Amino acid sequence: MIVCKFGGSSVADADQLKKVKYIVSKNIDRQILIVSAPGKRNKEDIKVTDLLYASSEAAKSDGSCKNVFAQVRERFLGILNDLKLDSSEMIKSLDEVELKIDAGAGTDYAASRGEYLNARLISIYFGWEFVDAEELIVINDNGTINENTWNLCKERLSGSNYIIPGFYGKSLSNKVKTFSRGGSDISGSIIAKAVGASLYENWTDVAGCYNADPRYIDGAYPIPQMTYREVRELSIVGASVFHPEAIIPVHEAGIPINIKNTNADEEKGTMITLDRDDNNTEVIGVSGETGFTKLSINKLLLMVEPSIYNVLISIVKNNGITPILTFINPDSICWFFPSRAITDKLLENLKVRLINEFNIDSIEYKRELSIIGLVGQGLKKKPVALAKSICALNDSKINIDSINYGASEMTLYISVDEKDSRAAVQSIFNANFK
Ligand code: ASP
Repeated sequence: MIVCKFGGSSVADADQLKKVKYIVSKNIDRQILIVSAPGKRNKEDIKVTDLLYASSEAAKSDGSCKNVFAQVRERFLGILNDLKLDSSEMIKSLDEVELKIDAGAGTDYAASRGEYLNARLISIYFGWEFVDAEELIVINDNGTINENTWNLCKERLSGSNYIIPGFYGKSLSNKVKTFSRGGSDISGSIIAKAVGASLYENWTDVAGCYNADPRYIDGAYPIPQMTYREVRELSIVGASVFHPEAIIPVHEAGIPINIKNTNADEEKGTMITLDRDDNNTEVIGVSGETGFTKLSINKLLLMVEPSIYNVLISIVKNNGITPILTFINPDSICWFFPSRAITDKLLENLKVRLINEFNIDSIEYKRELSIIGLVGQGLKKKPVALAKSICALNDSKINIDSINYGASEMTLYISVDEKDSRAAVQSIFNANFK
């Protein structure tokens, strides 16, 4: 059985839904669909999920979401009209959702209704059974998947031809709970694992996962095959075709993922598997993400006294900030945090506390950094790509803030000033892929 997830742009209007129906009809194994809320139809358009977040805000501030919600109504009724489907059921559901948002049902409830309503609409269009994600997916308070999920899915999805809304499940207290943005990828991955799918198809509006962001990097092209771990390491530094957390359930179950383009369904897209057939290809992609702050701490014997490291990491975590990357030397440690998660005040407090409690030799922070990642399982065998990349930055006169390679043996991380980010990715790309 193939589990298919269709993203927001694939289900944005009636024409897109016709393509979805055609794609599904071409392979009888495509039996379970996970769908996003209608996304953008053009650059200026607004995603239904964003309208729903705005509806929830309007209900909180003005006591009514009527005006913003009118746009949500228009989107769904417009699609039904274009597909020449009866709208009476949808009108009832829309009324109920509007009432509940006004009554303070909360942000997660409001945001989840784009997927909920769209799945209902698509189940009418396909004549397939709608199954609410609340019946299937239980999300723990910390955002991880609750173990009950697997049995719930197995029992409820014992047949075929189901339409399931992505992006949410229920909390331990039986309330609607959403994943982070783009989370329908995670829903699809959970369902694929739960039903033991032979393949998880992730349908989007691009030709696959690219070896660099094609919007900015001249010459970027889709990667035919990559491993689960390569996808994760590339998505941590900004490659956005697939949600980084969505890899985990299918990876655990060894189910291949195929990223496909709804607008060109014959193209092969990107296959994501445990191993690559061409494991000798050193690198498969490069990506860069801006918006990082680096905190560096130096103290002689820092790592020889393990208690210091443990306390340091717990202080950082107790302040609600989790490092994305950590580089460690015997007497120094540096952490990279998303800048939006760490205010100047927090950094200053942290600094004072660490100096007072641990007699730190020096502690510094630097904002406006970008982290570039060059990823590939073959880097270990052919490390020449590391040298090529560093030389390319030197030739382009781009200052390197820090370099790290080793822990996973498949990613070279380089931090540079944010202003140099794009140029740095382009020069590393040119050195390795042209
Ligand atoms: N609709 C949600 C979002 O816009 C989730 C998703 O599309 O995966 O983030």
